[in-house]
Amino acid sequence: MSGALEIFWQMSARDYGEVASDASAGREQQAVNRSGRQKISAPRISHEAERTRNPRCLLGIKMSQVAIKRCKDYNTENMQRAVEEAVGLLGGIEKFVKLGQKVLIKPNLLSPRPPEHGVCTHPEVIRAVIRLVKKVTQDISVGDSHGGFEVISMDNVYEVSGMKAVCAEEGVKLVKFDTAVNIDGIPFAKAVKDADVIINVPKMKTHGLLILTGAVKNMFGAVIGKHKAEAHFKHIARQDFASYIIKIFMHVKPVLSIMDGIVAMEGDGPAAGSLRNAELILASDDAVAMDVVFSELAGVTPESLLTTYYAGKMGLGTSSLSGIKISGEALRDVRLKDFKLPKASFIYDAPRWVIKIFGRSVRTYPFIKVDACVKCRICEKNCPAEAINIDKNEIDYSKCIFCFCCHELCPHNAIGVRKSLAGKIAGFILKVRQRKKNGD
Ligand code: SF4
Ligand code: SF4
Repeated sequence: MSGALEIFWQMSARDYGEVASDASAGREQQAVNRSGRQKISAPRISHEAERTRNPRCLLGIKMSQVAIKRCKDYNTENMQRAVEEAVGLLGGIEKFVKLGQKVLIKPNLLSPRPPEHGVCTHPEVIRAVIRLVKKVTQDISVGDSHGGFEVISMDNVYEVSGMKAVCAEEGVKLVKFDTAVNIDGIPFAKAVKDADVIINVPKMKTHGLLILTGAVKNMFGAVIGKHKAEAHFKHIARQDFASYIIKIFMHVKPVLSIMDGIVAMEGDGPAAGSLRNAELILASDDAVAMDVVFSELAGVTPESLLTTYYAGKMGLGTSSLSGIKISGEALRDVRLKDFKLPKASFIYDAPRWVIKIFGRSVRTYPFIKVDACVKCRICEKNCPAEAINIDKNEIDYSKCIFCFCCHELCPHNAIGVRKSLAGKIAGFILKVRQRKKNGD
């Protein structure tokens, strides 16, 4: 499989018009659209218009489905109703889970953060999913692995995120991903591979490296602890990292994904962004299609998400809106207007000429906010490149691989992200260019 993936990767890189600005080090590769068009904010066609001219839809050919339901808060009853209705629009839970099957519910539990921080999947969403699955089978467990490999304990993550309490109240197992099954060189959690059915429950958030983190990226958590940091270290360029996520996703495809978009995170997610009341629950039989809809909601062209792009190329799901049947709310009614993207994201889809002019100096980098830092050393111990020295409040940028794990894992939002001077200038030029294009 890895050989096939390699060939696929080479083809995809060509298709994507990839430019490596530092090929020897494998760093700072910039994916740009051949046309030089700013893809992140490119104008979109509404899904209604897409569907009316979509021959697949008109011919009744099977399409991926995404259900969108509004839900204004995490109130238990409201949550249960929204989840049940969303899954009902897909055909009901019985379509995905059969009597007696072993079900693993996989939330996003990045780090020990309480529900109100909007970093982890909210426990009330998990409660609603548990109650729904219980209608079919009682063999249910909940589990995830956090984003680090040192200092952070999964017991603490389960406690702080509210997952422990919900599982105890609902009488289901909370499993730890501490035993590995090696497949294709990847140590998957045994609990994941042992499950008959995986229900994926991602959180609607932005992501510094991949722009958005949704249903496909959430399966990265199926991998055991330290390997995740090693994966960052081995797959430095974001194209490499995205194709690695796809390699994982191929082995642990969920049958059903339910996205917690009640309170979403915009800006510098996945841990230090700002909260946004999106008031949405998404459900889908296709994690790739779910990410397409999320990107549409956020105003990002789906092909700008490398995981979506590669998954589509690999035939792992539907990567274009025209192949997706949307039910419940219409996209135009629930779009997240002016959804803020991570600071780093402007670089990823910058036109070729911007990369040519500014080269490697266009970048974003992490820095320690000394006043906010409590010296817990989580960032230092979990930095895959060992680039952080907390005693000196320093990050060694000659070692840093710009994975932003420190930014994700700091529980005190004491790792900031800023643009280099060239990045600020390039960002300003792109903004002016985009405004001109939009006629503002
Ligand atoms: S920057 Fe954050 S994670 Fe790192 S030592 Fe300070 S508080 Fe801890
Ligand atoms: S300093 Fe932060 S961004 Fe740089 S390699 Fe370490 S964890 Fe990654």
